[in-house]
Amino acid sequence: MIVIIGSINMDLVMRVPRIPHPGETLSGGPFQTIPGGKGANQAVACARLVKQTERSAPQKVAMVACLGDDAFGVQLRAALRSDGIDDTHVSTVANISSGVAAIQVDANGQNSIALAAGANDALTPAHIDAARNLIAQAKIVVLQLETPLATISHAIKMAHDLGKIVVLNPAPAQALPTALLAQIDYLIPNEIEAGMLAELPLTASMSDADIDAAMAKLQAHGCRNVLVTLGAKGVQAGLANGAQHFPAQVVKAIDTTAAGDTFIGGFVAALADGLSEAEAIQFGQRAAALSVTRIGAQTSIPYRHEL
Ligand code: ATP
Repeated sequence: MIVIIGSINMDLVMRVPRIPHPGETLSGGPFQTIPGGKGANQAVACARLVKQTERSAPQKVAMVACLGDDAFGVQLRAALRSDGIDDTHVSTVANISSGVAAIQVDANGQNSIALAAGANDALTPAHIDAARNLIAQAKIVVLQLETPLATISHAIKMAHDLGKIVVLNPAPAQALPTALLAQIDYLIPNEIEAGMLAELPLTASMSDADIDAAMAKLQAHGCRNVLVTLGAKGVQAGLANGAQHFPAQVVKAIDTTAAGDTFIGGFVAALADGLSEAEAIQFGQRAAALSVTRIGAQTSIPYRHEL
């Protein structure tokens, strides 16, 4: 079983000719509500990409998260269930909105995003304690940073102490205590997050040497493996047995939303299926390459049979 602990959002996506200036009202184009949030996206990617054979018991994917007691909460829960995700430990919290991302996408595909964490901020260590039996059944536990750090730290410690494979996507970027990094089996940052975690000076783009330096520093802090995602440039992996580069598939990208989440879901699903690290990285990359050829977050995540 794979357990994902993290955020669930409703993405409110509006196409606009350009991003409006402060104080300006601008008529936009088509509008869509698309289930998103890094936690939910990664859970959906795992559920769609994990191997399901008729003979073996189905691989279960479960989420630990919070929703608000609003209409979006109802829709977001239904979306998880439609992908077969166990929502027993997805709590509905009274008097709070569900997480929402208001996204404007301009004619060039550039976006501007305002995020209201809502119920994601209500995920507490008590919710993690209540899910202990579920976490104890997991092979892999996956987390991100869109819920409170105290809760994430508590969950990582529990999963690590239970001997689980702990995967952390440190997004959105923020500094983390070294003691936390030492409990991570697979840290999966993009290059900005890797630079920030390794406390390198912020630059517009990191050189290969910068990325290798960041990986080495994070591994010195105790992360067993560090996979830095580099968009169309692929993945630079600092594995326990050395560094390796994995080039991305060449595709015509139209929307890179959730590319990172799809990569992580594919990687974790393949690891859960018993593939090697290198095979799991390549599987995640194939899934992510397909996702960037489609629009939206969960709408772009492929199913296993499509790969
Ligand atoms: P996001 O926040 O949009 O989900 P991210 O910054 O976390 O993305 P990226 O590094 O952009 O993650 O992408 C993750 C992986 O997806 C890459 O390592 C690569 O394998 C694949 N990928 C991303 N963009 C492209 C692209 N344009 N073409 C092919 N593969 C891509």
